[in-house]
Amino acid sequence: MRVRIWGARGSRPTPLNSAQVQGKISSVVQRIQPRDLASPSARERFLSSLPAELFGTVGGNTACLEIAPKQGPTVIIDAGSGLAELSAALSRRLRPGSEFHILFTHFHYDHVQGLPFFAPAYNPACTVHFYSPVQDIHQILASQMRHPFFPVTMDEKMRGDLRFHRLDGRPLKIGSLTIRYRELNHPGRGWGYRFEEGESVFVHASDVELQESDFEKTAENSSFFGNADALVLDTQYTLGEAIEKFNWGHSSFSLGVDFATAWQARRLYLFHHEPLYNDAKIYKNLQLARWYAQRLGNLDLEVYLSEEGMEITF
Ligand SMILES: [Zn+2]
Ligand SMILES: [Zn+2]
Repeated sequence: MRVRIWGARGSRPTPLNSAQVQGKISSVVQRIQPRDLASPSARERFLSSLPAELFGTVGGNTACLEIAPKQGPTVIIDAGSGLAELSAALSRRLRPGSEFHILFTHFHYDHVQGLPFFAPAYNPACTVHFYSPVQDIHQILASQMRHPFFPVTMDEKMRGDLRFHRLDGRPLKIGSLTIRYRELNHPGRGWGYRFEEGESVFVHASDVELQESDFEKTAENSSFFGNADALVLDTQYTLGEAIEKFNWGHSSFSLGVDFATAWQARRLYLFHHEPLYNDAKIYKNLQLARWYAQRLGNLDLEVYLSEEGMEITF
């Protein structure tokens, strides 16, 4: 499978502002030496030597991931504002009979606000499946698309073939993927998803405030969290802030490293970035998370930031 990140922010969309763009340009200009401008290849070398927080961004859109299985239709996790970007990209490759399967972790704004902008749902030639373990998924999604919140309603204007499924605990099969899910500790309830395809395992656990019971070596925990090739995890805060924001429903990157270590994940992707943190702080947190993994003695764990546009391959 291939996983593409369309939105990695938590809580609300977070566009870069002018001061942040100016700060990046100014820091880049300060670094330029005359030799960096000597030729087109020197300029390219200089640009590629810049740190990601100056020559890029983690992005500002909220939670949305696209999974392309080896066989079968596109699977999407959550419909945050990143879904609108995915929709724009899909417009070039939409075919009659295109099919999409959207799994919801939960229905907080940052996980549903892109849905009104998902073009395939308006297209009579497309089928869109919606999944959640909660009852009334249809009613929940339709209720955010009506006057005065949005000019058109789901039931009148989304002319695609929309199908709503309540997950009943049994694994779900979509194409070459086997998908399992479990409840996570989050205000108002939320669910994590585990995707298996042959030997490859991808675990998505967001939103979650990790708790002691998530680390217990039970068969249930182990079969859900264990041995992920890639783990996308809610690591919104620093440890200090996670303590201050106890019960807000999110985890720290340090606890995330502990968790990835406990469950022998091979790659950890920090996710659901705090909107009050700028790129400099988020990339700094990545460095600290890597340092902490080393200090723990977990030299096998690779730690990355979830960045908009990034692809995770298996
Ligand atoms: Zn969220
Ligand atoms: Zn949430």
